[in-house]
Amino acid sequence: MRRPVFLLCLLCLPLWAQRIEHVVLINFGGGVRSRETVHAPETTPQLARLARDGSLFLNVEAEGFGHFGAVLALFTGNSGLMGLTDRSESPTLFEYVRKSLALSADDCWLVTGEPDFAFLAASSHPDYGEAFGARVFVSPEGASPFAPVLRRFGNPVGPGVSGQKALEALAEHFPQPETSAPEAPQGFETDEGLRGDLRALRAARRILLQHRPRLLAVVLKDADIAHKSFKEYVKVLKENDSELGQLLDAIDADPELAATTAIIVCPEFGRDRALNRFNGLDHGDGSSDLNRVALHIRGPGIAAGRRVEDPVRTVDLTPTICAMLGVEIPLDVSGKAISLSD
Ligand SMILES: [Zn+2]
Repeated sequence: MRRPVFLLCLLCLPLWAQRIEHVVLINFGGGVRSRETVHAPETTPQLARLARDGSLFLNVEAEGFGHFGAVLALFTGNSGLMGLTDRSESPTLFEYVRKSLALSADDCWLVTGEPDFAFLAASSHPDYGEAFGARVFVSPEGASPFAPVLRRFGNPVGPGVSGQKALEALAEHFPQPETSAPEAPQGFETDEGLRGDLRALRAARRILLQHRPRLLAVVLKDADIAHKSFKEYVKVLKENDSELGQLLDAIDADPELAATTAIIVCPEFGRDRALNRFNGLDHGDGSSDLNRVALHIRGPGIAAGRRVEDPVRTVDLTPTICAMLGVEIPLDVSGKAISLSD
């Protein structure tokens, strides 16, 4: 009697082992060319590690060349969206996953160092919206509520000593808002002084280990320093890659996560082919350096060392992740699920 049961268990084991229970999506963003990543493995050895352990798609067509619209395409599966930091009309990946699988907010996280990207958490779609949105964690130093305003009006000059005193005297006459810190993963205090992407990647690592969400997305943006300096851009890529390695190590050291976690890494677009007058790189020349990026996917059941030249698109990521988690998208979207088998 026992033998058939034992055999059945043996047959079931590989199926269970292939199952994707957690998806970590890293928008390795801010505009990152393949030239400095997959074609320069000495700059990004951890991406090279992902390419060895998983599948690498070399011809990923990017959608749009404005930061918000391009990231929104990645998180909605739809092209042609403006993404001017207002709520999207098209539901986001988080909403599809949470609604379909009846998950709590603790199971779907969006982590970033840039408060402006919090708009990706949920759409204004009448069938979805905030009730199905991601739990957002903006890593602390990026959490100033004034950051979007400052960016909109440029970088103002400070008020000076006398101006500061006048402001403080004025402030005494107004009630001070109660500050409620976002729910922070333990240990984030040690991340002070780090730039936003590194804080976000560290926070993501802690959230993954502590909350074990089904879906964890990280939006990076520091590579956009490239507008001003190619050298600083390469430095950002090296540091972000190294921090990504820490996240991979944490997954690999946890038997349950190692067996059930898919990790997906992709920029929203690349950068121009030629340097600008500051010896930096903008994004707008329409070259293949700009509109073709590289996608890494590693996880249970995903071929290791596979390199795919066939074109796919950044809008395919949302449908692909939904397919991985067994989620159907009931609306029409531009992207379609990428085939992950040979
Ligand atoms: Zn830019």
